[in-house]
Amino acid sequence: MMSKILLIYTGGTIGMMQDSKTGALKPFDFRFLTKEVPELQRLNIKLETASFKKPIDSSNMHPKIWVELINIIEKNYAKYDGFVILHGSDTMSYTASALSFMLENLAKPVILTGSQLPIGIIRTDGKENLITAIEIAAAQKNGKPIVPEVAIYFEYELYRGNRTLKYNSAHFDAFKSPNYPVLAEAGVNIVYKENYIQKASTKKIQIHKELDNDIAVIHLFPGISKKITSSILNTPGIKAVVLQTFGSGNAPTEKWFIDELKAAIDRGTIVYNVTQCLEGRVIQGKYETSSELQKIGVIGGDDITIEAAITKLMFVLGKKLPLEKTRKLLQQNLRGEISV
Ligand code: ASP
Repeated sequence: MMSKILLIYTGGTIGMMQDSKTGALKPFDFRFLTKEVPELQRLNIKLETASFKKPIDSSNMHPKIWVELINIIEKNYAKYDGFVILHGSDTMSYTASALSFMLENLAKPVILTGSQLPIGIIRTDGKENLITAIEIAAAQKNGKPIVPEVAIYFEYELYRGNRTLKYNSAHFDAFKSPNYPVLAEAGVNIVYKENYIQKASTKKIQIHKELDNDIAVIHLFPGISKKITSSILNTPGIKAVVLQTFGSGNAPTEKWFIDELKAAIDRGTIVYNVTQCLEGRVIQGKYETSSELQKIGVIGGDDITIEAAITKLMFVLGKKLPLEKTRKLLQQNLRGEISV
């Protein structure tokens, strides 16, 4: 049977045009995009489209817009075999991570893609990304989708969405998944690495829409000041902080620093330790410079990306669970975002 795919356009370079006055790239009407890719009609796939009324540059992405996106998926979940989301590359990893947490028990592909050059430009990377992403969303084996997870397809590679980061703003090859293998490579054929792809859930899909953004990120650097650290940790209403540490989760051992963190944790603030390194993981207690963090109750983020850590916090805090349960969920692998 022909797969039925819903293509959702949120904005991003792929559908942008140059403003005739300023020369700046801005989101354009979705009809322009399908007109530019007549090949879409030749795919043996039933393709239908939905678009944000006001497409955005993904730098304007917001948890409220993730809920809008989730509402479109929820409304159409039973009607389609898979979803392709066209999205700006700048915050695509955040959106992919957020969607992975918001969609529990997923059994259908949700593939995000975009491009570095608008689709109307001759050298665009958008056509290949779009066509292959649709093929991946539609791909089935024995009547079942091959990639029933939230993934990003970009420049011949498919990645688990919550493992990615945008690392290059100039090359077509814009994403990396430093701590998890690619899920598929698109050459002459699309080769799926089935061992690494999540299995479709047999449980009923559960959709989560409560996200809490009362969080902050403290990116450590040599010389970080007490004044600023303290002011972030004492922000009224703050519920969690991602502490971006050195190496395998290390931080200064200065007394003021540990005291500030301990006081925050004692007040019930979550401190989530995520390394600044792209590869490797947080191992609290490996060095003296992380033992104290472990002792005062900082939660180790293992090999989670900063994008997944932020969205996981929003998702877990949104559940409004007792503190101990919240802390426990953060340490668990919920959607393949950490390698435990
Ligand atoms: N600024 C654009 C966006 O993220 C870049 C892109 O689409 O690649 O919306």
